[in-house]
Amino acid sequence: MNDGSNESRVLPDYAPEEAWARAADEADPLRGLRDEFHVPQRPDGSPAVYLCGNSLGLQPRGAAAAVTDELDDWSRLAVDAHFDGKHPWYSYHEPFREPLARLVGASPDEVVAMNGLTVNLHLMLASFFRPTAKRYKILMEECAFPSDTYAAKTQLQYHGFDPEGGVIAIGGAEGESAIATESFEQALERHADEIALVLLGGVNYFTGQVFDMQRIARAARERGCVVGLDLAHAVGNVELGLHDWDVDFAVWCHYKYLNAGPGAVAGCFVHERHARRTDLPRFGGWWGNDPGRRFRMHLEPRFEAQPGADGWQLSNPPILALAPLRASLDLFDRAGMQALRSKSKSLTGYLQYWIERAGDRRIEVRTPPEPAARGCQLSLRVLERPRELFDALTADGIVADYREPDVVRVAPVPLYNTFRDVRRFGRAVCDWAGHTEDREA
Ligand SMILES: *Cc1c(COP(=O)(O)O)cnc(C)c1O
Repeated sequence: MNDGSNESRVLPDYAPEEAWARAADEADPLRGLRDEFHVPQRPDGSPAVYLCGNSLGLQPRGAAAAVTDELDDWSRLAVDAHFDGKHPWYSYHEPFREPLARLVGASPDEVVAMNGLTVNLHLMLASFFRPTAKRYKILMEECAFPSDTYAAKTQLQYHGFDPEGGVIAIGGAEGESAIATESFEQALERHADEIALVLLGGVNYFTGQVFDMQRIARAARERGCVVGLDLAHAVGNVELGLHDWDVDFAVWCHYKYLNAGPGAVAGCFVHERHARRTDLPRFGGWWGNDPGRRFRMHLEPRFEAQPGADGWQLSNPPILALAPLRASLDLFDRAGMQALRSKSKSLTGYLQYWIERAGDRRIEVRTPPEPAARGCQLSLRVLERPRELFDALTADGIVADYREPDVVRVAPVPLYNTFRDVRRFGRAVCDWAGHTEDREA
């Protein structure tokens, strides 16, 4: 990632004492944002240490009102809420463009909120995966999210290719989980004339590694490959510059770092240079059609895509599933990605500090140590009895997640997590490791 400029702001002087963590929280310019979220409670009523925002973000307090507004308009106005509602449903998706564009580094016409992530991925592949007999392969990272792998393989099958031979998966060097940028570049050079598409998770869900999306996209485009990104673990986590990086398309979900609720409507980016292309095949639906002619269906039955990402929409948006995103994006705009990223580096650095302090040889951090090569998440590989560590954390009121066979993923999120949260996690790991000197600190 090209965001090394903030590195000097990572707090260098971590300390284990409660007083240190408290002072760090008090000095945090984003500290007020935690109060904008519902934090789950432990049975005794105290707040849980929620370190799972990479899987499902916490509920913004504004989410309920955002949904209630729409329920009220439905009861009050019914069909007329499409045009006369507080937030007219006919154009409901439109105000999302600007804040989403800021998050992913795009212009507003390049982004749209619609469908689910995997649905969007298939829609993008329908337009941008154009395999030929010679050039049909898909380059991916090893250990990509299952849904992405299923999408890639079933698309290959759909086009009549062997799904196994059609995917080139790039892994880390022997014994390493991190994948070097050079490995992608070398594979692109070696297989240039076979690769139709590079499909990359911007941040790998399993290891938490942030790929150098800009460099990989450049190498791919230089060789005439289409570039698509899955930003499920990247959006709201790291700074992005999709337009300038010249990627062809990207998809992401809004229920992880974006806090828009389970199964929330997803996001999609299509680069401006494809905005008005009529030669691309695509699956049409009335919401992607020129809105001026959308209601004249039987009079003007020919599908005419509106320019930009909007032209890939199919259905009218599920208003109730989109409403919470409104509340969440307001908070991102209040905070700003740069400030969030800066705090995130400090928080995750503090997490790393605690794991080193626990000094347990059974725990290996699989996420790269360089702040630019990781976001919020650290993936801990636990070499012995991994489930025991996970259960100990759970018993201590700490919410993390466990991925078979031996990985515990932990993600302090700068919008709502605190240095004290990280410290509580750190002390629980130290207890498990039998390193108890911080217990009374
Ligand atoms: C979370 C995640 C998904 C989930 O897909 P849905 O269609 O939202 O269910 C897909 N890909 C990646 C990389 C993910 O992290």
